[in-house]
Amino acid sequence: MLSPELLSVLCCTVCKSGLNYLPEKNLLRCTSCGREYKIKDNIPIMIVDEKENEYER
Ligand SMILES: [Zn+2]
Repeated sequence: MLSPELLSVLCCTVCKSGLNYLPEKNLLRCTSCGREYKIKDNIPIMIVDEKENEYER
């Protein structure tokens, strides 16, 4: 489970907007551009993978 404190300091690396935590998918989604960030071992992977994001759309 991701801590609210950690979530509150994270932001989208692309547009700097806030992120929503989606527990059912275990990922973070940007509230503005919709980019998704995976969470591994409770650590958000804040690296933008352009190809992977294109696949998910
Ligand atoms: Zn964004």
